Amino acid sequence: MFNKIFIANRGEIACRVIRACREMGIRSVAAYSDADARALHTRMADEAAHVGASAPRESYLNIQRVIGAAKQTGCQAIHPGYGFLSENAHFAQAVAEAGLVFIGPPANAIRAMGSKTAAREMMQNAGVPVVPGINLDDGVHRLSSLEYPLLVKAAAGGGGRGMRVANNANELAEAIASAKHEAQTAFGDDRVYVEQYVLNPRHIEIQILADAHGDVLHLFERECSIQRRHQKVIEESPSPFLTPDLRQKMTAAAVAAARAAGYVNAGTVEFIVAPDGAFYFLEMNTRLQVEHPVTEMVTGVDLVQAQIRIAAGETLNQIFPQKVESASRGWPLTQRGHAIECRITAEDAANGFLPALGRITRMSEPAPAPGVRVDSGYAVGDEVTMFYDSLLAKLIIHAPTRPQAISQMRRALAEYKMEGVTTNIEFLRDVLAHDAFAKGQTTTGFIAEYFANWQPGGLADEAASAPDAEAICQNPWRQKNRFRLGVADGSWAVAAPRQPARAAKNRAAPVAHHTTGPVTAPMPGLVRQVNASAGDAVTRGQTLAVMEAMKMEVRITAPGDGVVKFVLCEAGAVVEKGRVLFEIE
Ligand code: ADP
Ligand code: ADP
Ligand code: MG
Repeated sequence: MFNKIFIANRGEIACRVIRACREMGIRSVAAYSDADARALHTRMADEAAHVGASAPRESYLNIQRVIGAAKQTGCQAIHPGYGFLSENAHFAQAVAEAGLVFIGPPANAIRAMGSKTAAREMMQNAGVPVVPGINLDDGVHRLSSLEYPLLVKAAAGGGGRGMRVANNANELAEAIASAKHEAQTAFGDDRVYVEQYVLNPRHIEIQILADAHGDVLHLFERECSIQRRHQKVIEESPSPFLTPDLRQKMTAAAVAAARAAGYVNAGTVEFIVAPDGAFYFLEMNTRLQVEHPVTEMVTGVDLVQAQIRIAAGETLNQIFPQKVESASRGWPLTQRGHAIECRITAEDAANGFLPALGRITRMSEPAPAPGVRVDSGYAVGDEVTMFYDSLLAKLIIHAPTRPQAISQMRRALAEYKMEGVTTNIEFLRDVLAHDAFAKGQTTTGFIAEYFANWQPGGLADEAASAPDAEAICQNPWRQKNRFRLGVADGSWAVAAPRQPARAAKNRAAPVAHHTTGPVTAPMPGLVRQVNASAGDAVTRGQTLAVMEAMKMEVRITAPGDGVVKFVLCEAGAVVEKGRVLFEIE
């Protein structure tokens, strides 16, 4: 076994890996950037190594620096966490060439799954169903075999980026052009393909573990359908949708997929599942997943420890010795109870989930109880900066049944307090309180359907949140500009609004298209590009600037036709939310 591991990541996942190392008697070395010199993971590890400036490209994504620091501190292996270099085949290969062990799959398996189009082909050959689709290189004329709506996807895609829906032939050309543009900026690869857009689907994925000796097992499913911008917010296991029969088919397909890819270590096979139960391969994530704790809670397996043991050459038989004792019964794994994870993010849920920044001035985590787990990457006093992901922590609940897990999650979220930075905690509370969530009606459109106009201090818009919502709608007390309705333990209460001015303003003019006036920053962050100069004539919707924060890119567009009177920002500037960037006349 290794005696020292380098962690090429930050935030909650770096802390998670440090804890696993400590439990295994392995020393840990944390990588940190300038911005993270005093971050929680830097403080928590046995040692810390500076790897560069705050921008990820110069530190956490800098392969030479990371490997150099790992060697210099005497580590034998590198854990990449998720994101950053975790799915970078060059990195995995460079780690091996430097004589270190990459705690993850072989570079070949990462490469094989790195292109979604190549992965689709490999899966088809392995008999795993894929979404009907077309590689654009094969000629657009074959599109006639697909029905609208279609989804244009980046071959190199990830993190929900490079995806566009097209409802008809007119929208398709525009969707392809803008997906190509986004894919080029995000991944440096503009190849896209077209897939059938599955309506009202669920995202259900299967966790895999494979050892370096040819054995593969699955650890059941996670349902991750509650998403914003095609990115997960709440995950659970078991899925409220799967029948034993469908579970059996999907887990078998996932194991076949992992075998076809020559997979080793922990990985996840993602499927999109139609309402009729038809399931299709989406992609394989060749790393630990953000939502891995829900699987750990229901199976009792520590996935990070399993990753480390597999990387050290152990077999699945050694990791799960019970199998050998009861060979006839197969792997000693079952889904026990129900687990739900909520991602606690620094985001403004009432404002398009745009990034929020700041220093955490006060924080109190939920009181512990059997089955309450907090995987956090931040403590009081820590700064949430624009350089990294918005994920602050994960709250995970494990209870005997789904309704019990929901009640416990609601209690824990109610106790979770963070001040100094805007978080999605109150939003999550309202999602957990929603009747459709309780009923397991979780499809990927859930947030758009029920929470599109969410505001703090009230439940989702007009959406049905209680069993007898219709009756309540006819009740004059429900006039939300006067009163706020909230659900507490299933009973309805009427209270004065917490933020009446804001809520009313938002309703009155959510999409006012001024033809003249100031154009302001919708979020705090970096102005990456300025595309307009004083005196330019611009048309409505034209890009004036591009802003970036927490890996999210936002185009600042002209609110109407006019002439740019003043440009009040420059490329490279860091601006706060609401700052005037342009004056248009
Ligand atoms: P999943 O959520 O299914 O685990 P994602 O593709 O959304 O997978 O990405 C996993 C995590 O890694 C997310 O928190 C995402 O924001 C983060 N991530 C993805 N790419 C990068 C990157 N280039 N740098 C830093 N973090 C990243
Ligand atoms: P990423 O690499 O960005 O994670 P995925 O292929 O895993 O991309 O898709 C992310 C999400 O986008 C899915 O969870 C799902 O919500 C949606 N999605 C992807 N493909 C389809 C499809 N063919 N039909 C409907 N929704 C889809
Ligand atoms: Mg995915």
